[in-house]
Amino acid sequence: MNNKIYTYGKQTITAADIKAVVKVLKSDFLTQGPAVQAFEEAICAYTGASFAVAVANGTAALHLAALAAGVAEGVEAITSPITFVASSNCVLYCGGTVNFADIESDTACIDPLEIERQITDRTKVLIPVHFAGQPCDMEQIALIARKHNLTVIEDAAHAIGTSYKGSKTGDCTYSDMTIFSFHPVKTITTGEGGVITTNDEKLYKKLTLLRTHGITKDQTELTRNDGPWYYEMHLLGYNYRMSDIQAALGISQLQRLEEFVTRRREIVEMYHDQLTGDDRFGFLRERDGAVSAFHLCPLIINFNIVKKNKTLIFNELKEAGLHLQVHYIPVHMQPYYQNMGFRRGEYPRAEAYYDSAVSLPLYPLLKDSDIKRIVKIVRKVIR
Ligand SMILES: *Cc1c(COP(=O)(O)O)cnc(C)c1O
Repeated sequence: MNNKIYTYGKQTITAADIKAVVKVLKSDFLTQGPAVQAFEEAICAYTGASFAVAVANGTAALHLAALAAGVAEGVEAITSPITFVASSNCVLYCGGTVNFADIESDTACIDPLEIERQITDRTKVLIPVHFAGQPCDMEQIALIARKHNLTVIEDAAHAIGTSYKGSKTGDCTYSDMTIFSFHPVKTITTGEGGVITTNDEKLYKKLTLLRTHGITKDQTELTRNDGPWYYEMHLLGYNYRMSDIQAALGISQLQRLEEFVTRRREIVEMYHDQLTGDDRFGFLRERDGAVSAFHLCPLIINFNIVKKNKTLIFNELKEAGLHLQVHYIPVHMQPYYQNMGFRRGEYPRAEAYYDSAVSLPLYPLLKDSDIKRIVKIVRKVIR
């Protein structure tokens, strides 16, 4: 018996990726060189956005986007409870207040009607999360944003390669900024890395300034000029730069993005074909008008008819080689957020989803035979 171990996600690295990285290592610039700009241009070309700012990771991208959106003390932002903690932590980094809006049960994405219910006078920013690679209902979210004069930051950490009603996620048709993450579990990787896309030049300038300590050398921006060495700090920024080593990997990975998306969609379809029709199992619905670059394939377990509890199932799957994860523990249920006053019971759909979901292995290196084996384990263990 083969004891192959499957995790929920994994990077795909080729000889071409390695060659691209080695080339930078042998060059003059490991950071602040030409590869970062080339990566940003490639991201713009792929998504259709006017500007891209590459940064150290997806969390840094969210932090800078929140700052650029004006999140500060007294400003409230709304995001989904079914997300990684970074989507809401970025608001707290800026001294802002975070609130959540419950999800749509069939997509696990934030529900526009719930957003409307949560909006107050202090709400200035929305952070919809394209959960599992599925686009949120961006048309409705953009309408709400216009009506209430809100800035929209799309957390597309899961969704590079997704399109929605003919628009590529990241082109900011329905938002002010979009962020992506390039952590190795995501669809393309730079080791650690992230990017913010926007069509707004003012936001772009602010983001680039904040990425490097708030320092500028632009002659036209200086308040005085002490000499050729001179630079000025205008904002309290950070060192959130991406290195050229990472950017080179990103450029190389981006060339295979379509291939990755195709394979991810094939795998999701195989899981659906092989597990639907069995009352024990369900899946999220793909939104009309969406072509999702699936980052996750959550399996929804019907605990009304399954006898084992989730902990037992989890342990038995692990013994059988499936080292899975649950995406996500609702953020409002984290102790840190509970200490801020959030309570279990506030977001019933998110909580019900959490109680029933587990993410199946999903990455391009999985072969059809792997999927067959995984499905067999799932059928055998979950009963
Ligand atoms: C991964 C992830 C992030 C953070 O990205 P990092 O690159 O790990 O900092 C943010 N939001 C969501 C939804 C994510 O899945």
